[in-house]
Amino acid sequence: MKGKNDLKSINRSAVEDSRFGKGCYATIPIREGETICFFTGEETTWKESEIRYIKELDRLDDPFQISETKYLELYEPYIYFNHSCNPNSGFRGENEMIAIRDINPGKEITYDYSTVTWDDRWARIHGAWIMECRCEEENCRKIVGDFLTIPGPQRIEYLKLGVVPNFIIKKIKKLYRKEKNLFSINLENQPRESD
Ligand SMILES: [Zn+2]
Repeated sequence: MKGKNDLKSINRSAVEDSRFGKGCYATIPIREGETICFFTGEETTWKESEIRYIKELDRLDDPFQISETKYLELYEPYIYFNHSCNPNSGFRGENEMIAIRDINPGKEITYDYSTVTWDDRWARIHGAWIMECRCEEENCRKIVGDFLTIPGPQRIEYLKLGVVPNFIIKKIKKLYRKEKNLFSINLENQPRESD
């Protein structure tokens, strides 16, 4: 996993109070396409995360999915980045957070939680992950779920921006092979999965 000891890039943001408890705010100007940080945490499996959830050690939306089977129990400050339905950042590869537009100092850095969540086994056993959203963006989805709950055009926009993690691209390709018309986008130009 990239950026395990990446302390430099996190200096681009600081944790402060937000209307949702805490949030992460840019401390320097961040340009579109720049790396903001690499999310890090204790690597766990789907099963371990499930046990933590059942024992109520975890909230359902705490673990950060990085592959079909692996999650991160995020360290601080990564747990404080909030969701937005109209975010200014997203994830590339496994855990690299990049800006999808210019972010000025003082602006909250957000990402769309749905772009990093898609676990069919979890959905089968516990029901699909959902979260109520009050981001108040014009396009707020109100109820946020896994990747497939993102409206089609926005999903395509995220793919074009390159902020869909590898494991999800892999899943889309699998689905796409089955349902040729489900995603009207050429996936051949998307990054290749590393595993
Ligand atoms: Zn929202």
